Amino acid sequence: MKKKILVTRSSLPPLEEYVDKIKGIWDTCWMTNMGPVYQELEQDMKKYLACKNLELYVNGHMALDVAIKALRLTGEVLTTPFTFASTTHALVLNGLTPVFCDIKPDDYTIDEDKVESLITKKTSAILAVHVYGRPCNIKRLREIADKHHLKLLFDAAHAFGVRVDGEPIANFGDVSMFSFHATKVFNTIEGGALVYRDDSLTRSLKSLRNFGIESPESVVQPGLNAKMNEFAAAMGVCNLKYLDENIRKRKHVAEFYSSRLKDCPGIQMIDFENDSRVTWNYSYFPITVDEKKAGCTRDDLFEGLQKENIFTRKYFYPLVPDYECYREQFGRCPLPVARYVADRVLTLPMYADLTEEDLERICRAVLKIIR
Ligand SMILES: *Cc1c(COP(=O)(O)O)cnc(C)c1O
Repeated sequence: MKKKILVTRSSLPPLEEYVDKIKGIWDTCWMTNMGPVYQELEQDMKKYLACKNLELYVNGHMALDVAIKALRLTGEVLTTPFTFASTTHALVLNGLTPVFCDIKPDDYTIDEDKVESLITKKTSAILAVHVYGRPCNIKRLREIADKHHLKLLFDAAHAFGVRVDGEPIANFGDVSMFSFHATKVFNTIEGGALVYRDDSLTRSLKSLRNFGIESPESVVQPGLNAKMNEFAAAMGVCNLKYLDENIRKRKHVAEFYSSRLKDCPGIQMIDFENDSRVTWNYSYFPITVDEKKAGCTRDDLFEGLQKENIFTRKYFYPLVPDYECYREQFGRCPLPVARYVADRVLTLPMYADLTEEDLERICRAVLKIIR
């Protein structure tokens, strides 16, 4: 049996560099609660993102949860159905009602032309996702949010390192959330961050992370435990040095797929080069399979590749409103584009160290199954 190729593989720095970075922890015995390594990562990251306000968290989901609480959102929040469970769960577990807006067929982000018709008196925010690292129509969403006095949040879990017109994507919206989970482009093992504009949020975003504690004798609000520990921060400090290099390697993977699969019937890919305003991070390589032209379905391709020991992912399928836990409440939302894409999408293996040999094997297998 040929070697297993998984859909992703976490980036790790050279072991010696990580060991070196955590050595200091044995001197201070300071393992968590915003210690020196946390401070170092915060500074490095602020520089990398050219942002003013940033807080780090134990993971992306908790960061989003904290943001929703700090912004005191109420009632309904307009969001996308084409995302990971976290986006919607964060709303629901805060007592909010997600209102699903369909996505666009060309880039799978929320359809800004359909957003306004879903706004009601109860709407307090828009929570959009830069899915696969593809920027939403930030400008138009901002205009809509301003016109209707809504908060604008971005789930930017996929988009660390992405720039629009040279500006890091962190700096759009009222709050952007990043995930540094092991499988993301940049990781801190588990981790997350919030980047935000309004200085007056700082107090709440900090205290919500640590049980609402501001000082030893002052607890100002009911809070969570969402702190990033020093070992995670150390992984971040080490990995950040390799991020740009890793993105370059991912670009090579994307170019390889694009050139080898461009004439494959029934396969649609992201055209990374068509938008010169965006600097991509190549976080995922999604394709859609049009069964009429390809002569096989997405599921056929998924299973065929699995037989070759190549593991892809139906990311995102099923659609969030079709989950068992949401089906009864939201399953009837008319979301034709999102359902079309969810039924046909497949993400191919994508990581910095994917070799040309492996890429060749994957592309050959795809072409064999489809022809
Ligand atoms: C990974 C991810 C999250 C959650 O991040 P964690 O760090 O795993 O908690 C949220 N939204 C999207 C779109 C994600 O892909």
